[in-house]
Amino acid sequence: MRQFQGKEVSFLRYISTRGAAPVLGFDDVLLAGLARDGGLYLPETWPRFSADEIRAMRGLSYQQLAVRVMAPYVGDSISEADLTALVTESYRDFGHTAVAPLKQLDTSLWFMELFHGPTLAFKDHAMQFLGRAFDHVLTRRGERVTVVGATSGDTGSAAIEACRDRDAIDIFMLYPHERVSEVQRRQMTTVDAANVHTLAIEGTFDDCQDLVKAMFNDVAFRDEMRLSAVNSINWARIMSQIVYYFHAALALGAPDVPVRFSVPSGNFGNIFAAYAAREMGLPVDQLIIGTNVNDILTRFFDSGDLTTAAVQATISPSMDIQISSNFERLLFDLYDRDGAALAEAMTTFRAEGRLSVGDNRWKQVRALFDARRIDDDRTRAEIERVYKETGELIEPHSAIGIAAARDARRDANLPTITLGAAHPAKFPAAVEAACGAFAPLPKRMEDLYDRTEHYTVTPNDLGQVQAYVRAHAGQAGQA
Ligand SMILES: *Cc1c(COP(=O)(O)O)cnc(C)c1O
Repeated sequence: MRQFQGKEVSFLRYISTRGAAPVLGFDDVLLAGLARDGGLYLPETWPRFSADEIRAMRGLSYQQLAVRVMAPYVGDSISEADLTALVTESYRDFGHTAVAPLKQLDTSLWFMELFHGPTLAFKDHAMQFLGRAFDHVLTRRGERVTVVGATSGDTGSAAIEACRDRDAIDIFMLYPHERVSEVQRRQMTTVDAANVHTLAIEGTFDDCQDLVKAMFNDVAFRDEMRLSAVNSINWARIMSQIVYYFHAALALGAPDVPVRFSVPSGNFGNIFAAYAAREMGLPVDQLIIGTNVNDILTRFFDSGDLTTAAVQATISPSMDIQISSNFERLLFDLYDRDGAALAEAMTTFRAEGRLSVGDNRWKQVRALFDARRIDDDRTRAEIERVYKETGELIEPHSAIGIAAARDARRDANLPTITLGAAHPAKFPAAVEAACGAFAPLPKRMEDLYDRTEHYTVTPNDLGQVQAYVRAHAGQAGQA
């Protein structure tokens, strides 16, 4: 127990969803990413705020709120003064002083813009904090790490931007060759830093994600390279995303008015942060998931069966995913936090491509969650509708969240907040095709198309990727 902001706090420990990895403190969870038993780390219990404590958060700046929400998770790994400094630094390069401003789309539908960070997608919210937290903890310990990650586009640039030129980190980012937008690719490949390595994998995003998982599951390689992850499997990312759910709900009357969120989902990281906010006491009475035609999540919420399918390319490429890693975190709660039972279910899922949770568990999740599949035509129609009705340019991922919210919100009189996942200039071709208007890049990145690109095209082959990482890690410090 320790005093924090005048309160006694007991610090959290983290457990794996598969129940067979060491229990860790925040420092180690931050640096480890994936657990050694193949599971994902979660806090042993959810820290909870009372309605009075939530009411007292009204009027805090985004940065103050972030410290308040994250402190119970960070524990004594980072002092309150250091946490405040890290948070202040993390949001300094955002292009809007409100950090996550809200706009109103209809009488009760609100749009939270999460794309004012350095790489123009919501990933910056978590990643800017994560890069600084890594450096802080590693420097204190006198250690360094090799970050490996898979990206469907936006994580990669956000991670690279957060890790570039940081002394204690080498970063290797894998993305599906020719399956990300030009802006997304350029935001990764034009960073010229000796500790940044961008690999274009000849495969899909799921292949990239499998390669990263396989590198982690090769324990000898993992230890030799001191591997670390910044994917949304990293708990600290989810933790920093919880903040904006509190921020939006407080602005619209929480804890006295319940809210609902609609989240365009791929890896289930962002929506899981909404679930965590609710577990912490925020009054959220519905969570809406929008998927594109890669609809493993929508099919699950329709049927209770998780079944894989082939990935199809869409105009919302950051959601072209058929295995949503963070979904395991929700399943863990659904399996009453029984790691052994979940490990068995996940093994079956991996082997047979199917996991059935049974009627009771399915009814339990359906009480809170709804999901909708929004195809490319409907996505374009939604972009056009919002432009006509409000003059706002929105990009395809955000449009999926809006369309899902319109279709699935259970109470159209109470506020529903839908997430603006990326800046329209990140997907200018899709936006223009849908509504005829061009979305220019913000001034600070106007020369993106003129910068030189650096990347290596690599086969979808674990041995070759590992050889590349081995050959290139640790070069920056030796130059
Ligand atoms: C990452 C991303 C998503 C998917 O978010 P998850 O946390 O993986 O569910 C959706 N839209 C955009 C623009 C993204 O960058």
